[in-house]
Amino acid sequence: MPPLKSTTLRLEIDTAGRKHQCHHNKCHEVFKGQTRLKVTEDRSDEHFCRDCAIKMLKADIEKLQELLAKLEDRS
Ligand SMILES: [Zn+2]
Repeated sequence: MPPLKSTTLRLEIDTAGRKHQCHHNKCHEVFKGQTRLKVTEDRSDEHFCRDCAIKMLKADIEKLQELLAKLEDRS
């Protein structure tokens, strides 16, 4: 049996190599050396600042919990 496929395969935390704008909000700056969220989509990367990343991950965790609850609900 192959290993289970991860649903979070597109997500990674890395460090900015140079200063750039947050992909979600151009007013947010990500400075060199700062931790950021990298989302890989169609072989291209999008980088998000820490604040946006935390909001995105929390929203996704909520969604995953809802999906899990639907699967586990056997009533
Ligand atoms: Zn941001």
